[in-house]
Amino acid sequence: MKNIDTYDFNGKRVLVRVDFNVPLNDKFEITDDTRIRAALPTINRILEGGGMPILMSHLGRPKDAYDERFSLKHIVPRLSELLGREVKFAPDCVGPVAEEMAASLKPGEVLLLENLRFHPEEKKGDEQFAAQLAKLADAYVNDAFGTAHRAHASTTVVAKFFPEDKMFGYLIENELKHMDKVLHNPEHPFTAIMGGAKVSDKILIIENLLERVDNLVIGGGMVYTFVKARGGKIGNSLVEEDKLDLALHLLDKAKEKNVKVILPVDNVIADAFSNDANTRITPVDEIPDGWMGLDVGPETIKQVREVILNSKTILWNGPMGVFEMEKFAEGTKQVALAIAEATEKGAFSLVGGGDSVAAVNKFNLKDKMGYVSTGGGAMMEYMEGKELPGIKAIREG
Ligand code: AMP
Repeated sequence: MKNIDTYDFNGKRVLVRVDFNVPLNDKFEITDDTRIRAALPTINRILEGGGMPILMSHLGRPKDAYDERFSLKHIVPRLSELLGREVKFAPDCVGPVAEEMAASLKPGEVLLLENLRFHPEEKKGDEQFAAQLAKLADAYVNDAFGTAHRAHASTTVVAKFFPEDKMFGYLIENELKHMDKVLHNPEHPFTAIMGGAKVSDKILIIENLLERVDNLVIGGGMVYTFVKARGGKIGNSLVEEDKLDLALHLLDKAKEKNVKVILPVDNVIADAFSNDANTRITPVDEIPDGWMGLDVGPETIKQVREVILNSKTILWNGPMGVFEMEKFAEGTKQVALAIAEATEKGAFSLVGGGDSVAAVNKFNLKDKMGYVSTGGGAMMEYMEGKELPGIKAIREG
């Protein structure tokens, strides 16, 4: 496997799969350029090495055909500004114009290709299409972690055309480094905190983590499937009736593996799914009919905090309650603060998967976490122990 730090880019055209799937407003202005900034180290490394980056990405969800709203041309001005040089733009990602533009690139120049998903072949992982992309360059770098779990042409299939000249960019390298540390080389005690709405979304990741962690904290809406399975009264709380057996199975498995499971003991209940609802604090298994549990309670927060502060490795995925509403945000906030404190004391923390990242951002604690993953679905699948096609395509063959 080649490495971006040591690879000789001099004079080479380098096809780079980036993730420029940024939010645009109705004037096509970028409202958050985090993803573009995240790709800069890789692009700059290629430029400094004397190579010519040819950038490809998807943007939004076009319906397999050109649609101005999803054109990557909207990215050109900001990217040019961030790179401090004018970026050229190919109006189609494959075909004679892209080929001509790629061929005439000079060292120091950057070419951005039009949205890959204007071609249905991209998502199908079409080999001919991948071959057309491959034609543009001498080497391939994948730096789009968020799509690494998809076997698309630009994320996976294209790699086979560069058997000796393919590698990860810095963003993916960084993601893998942190996830591998947690999965394969954690310092103990290792605590996983799993929250969010449903058990069904988290079964595979919980199963995989039970092989590795010392403590498993369960929060969020999925708590009530566990509580009901154990015979508790959950009122109108969120529940997955068809997962009650599974919840018991996970608890048994945890016992077998000597994993300490921390289920909430108390919770904040509400008489409506609303920030204006009446609220009370009750034991987690004594919720009256007509009421629902929407956040963990103060006694639970105390217990969870203690577990977190005694941990050396912490993985957090999914909020503890309905943190989008002020009244039910306290559990999530306190968990985030405890992780920040533990991290400051020397623990390693990894936060990832959709809503926990949103929560960390909401409470302005991103900089206090060890690492915040950029790839929701991809991160989840990697932590489930799956081999991601985009990762495998570079690592093998
Ligand atoms: P996930 O995408 O699986 O991480 O789920 C996140 C969502 O779960 C957030 O939108 C939360 O509002 C929601 N959630 C967390 N706790 C609860 C709860 N007790 N009842 C209902 N929804 C919840």
